Amino acid sequence: MQVLTSRTTLLLTIKALVNFMPKAQKILGFIIGFFLILSPAEAQDITKQIKQNHAEKVCAHTRLQHQSMEKNVKATGWSAYDLIYHRINWNIDPAVKAISGSVFSIFEAKQQLDTLTFDLHDNMTVDSVVYQQSVINYTHQNDKLFIQMPQTVAPGQKDSVTVYYHGSPGGSGFGSFMQSTHDNIPIIWTLSEPYGASEWWPCKNTLKDKIDSMDIFVHTQAQYKAASNGILVDETVNGQQKTVHWKHRYPITTYLVAVAVTEYAEFADYAMLNSGDSIKILNYVYPEDSAAIRQQAAATVDVMELFNDLFMDYPFPEEKYGHAQFGWGGGMEHQTMSFMGTFNFGIVAHELAHQWFGNMVTLDNWPDIWLNEGFATYLTGLSYEHMFNGKYWGIWKENQIKQITSKPGGSVYCNDTTDVSRIFDSRLSYAKGAMVLHMLRWKIGDTAFYNGVRNYLNDPLLAYDYATTADLKYHLEQSSGANLDEFLNDWFYGEGYPSYSITWTQNSANEMVLKVDQTTSHSSVSFFEMPVQIKMKNSSQDTLVRLDHTHDGQTFTVNPGFTVDSVFFDPNNWIVSANDQVMVGVDNPKENNIRIYPNPAQDMVNIEGRREIMKVEVFREDGIKMDEVNPQKNSYRYNFSEFIKGVYFFRITFSKGVVSRKIVKL
Ligand SMILES: [Zn+2]
Repeated sequence: MQVLTSRTTLLLTIKALVNFMPKAQKILGFIIGFFLILSPAEAQDITKQIKQNHAEKVCAHTRLQHQSMEKNVKATGWSAYDLIYHRINWNIDPAVKAISGSVFSIFEAKQQLDTLTFDLHDNMTVDSVVYQQSVINYTHQNDKLFIQMPQTVAPGQKDSVTVYYHGSPGGSGFGSFMQSTHDNIPIIWTLSEPYGASEWWPCKNTLKDKIDSMDIFVHTQAQYKAASNGILVDETVNGQQKTVHWKHRYPITTYLVAVAVTEYAEFADYAMLNSGDSIKILNYVYPEDSAAIRQQAAATVDVMELFNDLFMDYPFPEEKYGHAQFGWGGGMEHQTMSFMGTFNFGIVAHELAHQWFGNMVTLDNWPDIWLNEGFATYLTGLSYEHMFNGKYWGIWKENQIKQITSKPGGSVYCNDTTDVSRIFDSRLSYAKGAMVLHMLRWKIGDTAFYNGVRNYLNDPLLAYDYATTADLKYHLEQSSGANLDEFLNDWFYGEGYPSYSITWTQNSANEMVLKVDQTTSHSSVSFFEMPVQIKMKNSSQDTLVRLDHTHDGQTFTVNPGFTVDSVFFDPNNWIVSANDQVMVGVDNPKENNIRIYPNPAQDMVNIEGRREIMKVEVFREDGIKMDEVNPQKNSYRYNFSEFIKGVYFFRITFSKGVVSRKIVKL
């Protein structure tokens, strides 16, 4: 899932909040109106405030809902049965926010089973439950549907029931079941992640049991199309009515089951798989947006072929991939058919990436949400690395690092799964999750990283099933031979980021001594053990070195083979860090027979020594060389009146020895 932060998105998010916060409606109604005269930036600021002000209410709502869900895990035993198959019939008129239908389920008992339990919100009405053509008893309370089986189902035995129901679903999280319009045409779409599925259909709302296969029949008016999971078997028109049959034969977790109904224009692209087959990319888009989206959606082919090469072939090759446009500001990776509020490149890549990371291999528990969102975000980054000649790759990494380090704390590990806004925190679950993967790649190298991730995807215990962070760790440790305990303690469970300070000197034999200091932004991590990359250059040469930084104040001696004039820390953005400094060190502290004054200085710096001053080099605080002069005399007045205020490093080469000084310019 990816939430956009455009004005439109925010409006929709606010509208979604209004839906389940009637008391706040008046205030929010006013604020929504107010948005229309604000710039997007202003609107975002205000939205942040609104979100903060109302976060508690939102969270409380979601928390309660989730707590009751957790409680019921024990009370009703989700583990009592294994869900095998659903045949679902849904009647949907997109002009009316309501749904009715039936859910036929085949299950296998895992223990003596007298009561079969589904999740269904209380505001939905169960009409009947049918077992082999007979109506059977049930109770529907506390958002649970308890079905009394006519006789006990023995462990290992398969059985089935059909639930008939109807209602006008409420909405939590990101809406779950939404009704809207585009170009005056009504639309209904669903978006269940994380907890919303049982708000609109009776299901097993868990991350522990995938539905092995399903058929979905949507009954609607003849002018509409219905988008859903799997492959389109047929569309049957009978007078004013249409029935659309979607068939899905891959395991699917509950939150990925989805439907959208409206007037859609349709077009398809095809991508090649490494198996030699091709895969259809089916697009359902609003007719009024069709021409523009057709151009944007074409990128899906290249991105899919890239992911096929980097990881493995698209995981649902017997069916399709596709997009269905919907009215939510962002995208949602419904299995085999992502729902898209916009088709910009980043979202197209992100939702497609989820088909591997999130859909084929699904997070086992919400605290591990980075296994979905960190990977999907990183794969968007990888698309930028490999496409557009790499033009946006550096910018993408810089933006992630900026966002992550905009606050001193926060872990990738999601420590409050009752709070939907924490689960989908774009700074932590998305950006930091992605950059933790990037740092794993840096730490263990490309070969071990990609092999480990491929093994994770192909692990028979994880593929088309669920995975934990420990499963990913296992595969990366196997492929690299590294122990990742410390890394994950710092970067996954720990909070914050390091700030580095590099002090360098170079002697006349070109030997360099680099001292690497580190502070951390959050007390949960005292030191981030990381390999660090340093670039050294002069006007004609440059080189990169990798230093294995294991303690604060560590010094390294390297010889680049040339006289260095500038040193850069982490020039390729391998590490999440901020406020880094590169300083020229004092390499001849005994050379005291010189005076450099005044300090701080306004315009002029006087340099006086006993020996001839050969060279004066001036560096900015970030290590970039600003100037070089060759006085060839014993005293020199350096004029830096045109420099901006700040800290500068003067490196002065005498006929015998080198001296460096930090000068503050006023
Ligand atoms: Zn996502």
